Amino acid sequence: MIVSDAAANSSCLFCKIVNGQIPALVVGETERALAFRDINPQAPTHVLVVPRTHYPNAAALANADAELTADMIRLAGKIAESEGIADSGYRLMFNTGEDGGQTVFHVHLHVLGGKNLGPMVAI
Ligand code: 5GP
Ligand code: ZN
Repeated sequence: MIVSDAAANSSCLFCKIVNGQIPALVVGETERALAFRDINPQAPTHVLVVPRTHYPNAAALANADAELTADMIRLAGKIAESEGIADSGYRLMFNTGEDGGQTVFHVHLHVLGGKNLGPMVAI
């Protein structure tokens, strides 16, 4: 799959956060990824880890750049440490496509924790 084109980037919410055009509560970063608090948290800790480069979803990201994928997961682990949830446990989630509940088509890794998250999906 192709990375997105420039037109998609210019209208992409998370590209705008990465570029500083839209503010966000940043809690961590690497050279290639940014972590910020979700605007509508679903758990006491709810952080989004995004690559600074636009990819539409997790599979496209992993196909294009395995090291960047690993960088994001390492950053998620650091966030879990700094949020104090590394020992109690947390959930990492890539929603993908319509049935997966994806609403922003710039890949983002949800880091959720701070309470028992219950079953994996609501039935
Ligand atoms: P998705 O549903 O695509 O897996 O997740 C998108 C997430 O982005 C949602 O949890 C939503 O609350 C969050 N979100 C949407 N708009 C903004 C925003 O402007 N700022 C921040 N920090 N999060 C946002
Ligand atoms: Zn983007």
